[in-house]
Order: sequence, then C-alpha cells, then structure tokens
Amino acid sequence: AKEKGRDNAQVFAPEMATVVVKKFGFEQEMHEALAAGQFRLDYQPKVWMDSERIVGLEALIRWHHPTKGLISPADFIPIAEESNLIIKIGEWVIEEALRQQAEWREMGLRLVPIAVNISGRHLVLDSFVSYLSSKLEDYGVTGALLEIEITESVLLQDIDRCIEVMEALKAMDITISVDDFGTGYSSLSYLKRLPLDVLKIDQSFVEECGKHTEDTTICETIIHLARNLKLVTVAEGVETAEQAALLKQMGCLIYQGYYFYRPMPSLDTAALLDKAD
Ligand code: C2E
Ligand code: CA
Ligand code: CA
Ligand code: CA
Repeated sequence: AKEKGRDNAQVFAPEMATVVVKKFGFEQEMHEALAAGQFRLDYQPKVWMDSERIVGLEALIRWHHPTKGLISPADFIPIAEESNLIIKIGEWVIEEALRQQAEWREMGLRLVPIAVNISGRHLVLDSFVSYLSSKLEDYGVTGALLEIEITESVLLQDIDRCIEVMEALKAMDITISVDDFGTGYSSLSYLKRLPLDVLKIDQSFVEECGKHTEDTTICETIIHLARNLKLVTVAEGVETAEQAALLKQMGCLIYQGYYFYRPMPSLDTAALLDKAD
C-alpha cells in the first residue's frame, strides 16, 4: 500500500505531468510519422561461418524525422512498447519487409530471409497469425523468406500461448529466433517445449568473448546448448576477426556484426544481393 501511495504521489507531481505530456506528444508524433512515411528499414546481413556468404538479413527500423534528423530505435521503440503503437509499428515493419522481398524478387535478386523484430505484446495478439498469413499472400512471398526475432523475456510470460503462435508460424515455414539470448531467464525445459529454430547470442557476450573467461564460457555454453537442442546459433555484434575466429572454433554457424556488414539502406542491400551469388 505504501508503494502504491508513492506511485500516486508521483503521478500528480508537476514534473511528472510534464513527462507524461511529453510522452503522449511523442506517441502522437510516432502515429503521424507512420502515416507520413518517415520510417525506413535498414538491413544488416547475416553471414555463414565458412563461406561468409549472406544467408539472411535483419530489418532494423529507422525514423527519418523531418526536423530532428535520424532517430535511433533505441530512443522510440521502448516508448512505443508501452502502448499498442508497437503493434502498428510491427505491422508496418512486416508489410515493408514483405513489400521489399516482392520488389527484390521482381528485380531478380538472390532472396534470403528477412528477420523482423516483434515485440511480445504483438506476438500474443489474437490477430497476429492471421495478419501474417494475409500479408504473405498479398505480396506472394513464402513464409520461408520471413523470420521473426523475439526477445527471450517474452517466452516466459505465457508459454502455452507462445507455443500455440509459434506452431502456427512453423506451419507457414516462418523461422523463429530468440533475440538477445542469455540475458533473460529461460529455463532449459522451456526451450525444449518451444518450436524454435535459432538462438542469437547477445552482443554483450560476443563483445567480451576471448577477453573474459566468463563471457567466453557463456558463448561456448550457448553454442553447445543450441547444438544439443538442434538449433542454429547466430552471434550478434561481431566486431573483430578475433571474435569471429573464436566463435567459429566454438562451432557458431552464423555471424552478424560490424566486422562483416553494418546495417544499410535497402538500395545498398540490393546491390550486395545482386553481386553476391
Ligand atoms: P537488436 O534486435 O538486438 O538489434 C541489434 C542492434 O545491434 C542493432 O541496433 C544493430 O545496428 C546493432 N549492431 C549490429 N552489429 C553490431 C556490432 O557489430 N556492434 C555494435 N555495437 N552494434 C551492432 P539498432 O538498429 O540501433 O537497434 C537497436 C534495437 O532496437 C534492436 O536491438 C531492437 O531491439 C530494436 N529494434 C530495431 N528495429 C526494430 C523494429 O523494427 N521493431 C522492434 N520492435 N524493435 C526494433
Ligand atoms: Ca534483433
Ligand atoms: Ca539482439
Ligand atoms: Ca539488443
């Protein structure tokens, strides 16, 4: 009761009112930005361990604000996640990724799956699966060209609902990845129950891999765990040749990071897919 009292007091503090007004203003701006087409997707290639061939892309949202310039998702996604705005954004991202695949197919490019980041709130929404299947159909894109990245913490909220949704995604050939793996609290039994395809080793472990024994051990443990569960591992945030070599030695299959490619606009991505066969 004491906690609650303190919260109420905060809501009525004048400085909090300013924060609340600012936040709603920002949300309103995001709604307008969606309508005005101010969001873009950049793409970061994922490469195969041995060949360094591009085997996938991660779509990363960018807000090109007319006066504030480029706004990072780290600055607006957390606010969007507090409301249903994250669902509007998620739907825009899915549609844009599928539109892009259809365009690249028309251009005759080599197509690889595009991974989109989906919030937990969106994943468990009743309409999520039907939205996906209708958009795949609209753009004539197979589910095999789409991947869904979900953060680990989501999986623990409603495991049965997650299993249900994921089974439906599986039936559409959509790949399911656990993002930022190692930072949440997944128990092994949960992992076994979920129809997952990929574990993405969080970049905080990759960054310290080879530098600190603990992080090196965590990377190695995740890779072994994934192999035993028949999952693919992706290392994110690979920045150096040393990290890549060490992860390769540990048996990590796919890399993503500045060492290989930075996220880039769709035109540059298309040029890359065109020359890389
Ligand atoms: P994330 O899903 O973990 O995405 C990876 C982030 O790491 C991206 O930051 C990427 O640009 C960055 N990164 C990639 N390689 C390296 C590297 O070698 N070194 C370093 N230091 N960083 C690297 P970004 O694009 O700023 O996105 C930040 C976060 O915002 C994402 O983290 C994701 O959680 C969220 N986000 C981005 N796009 C979307 C989206 O379309 N929908 C949702 N719901 N969230 C998104
Ligand atoms: Ca991600
Ligand atoms: Ca990540
Ligand atoms: Ca992250």
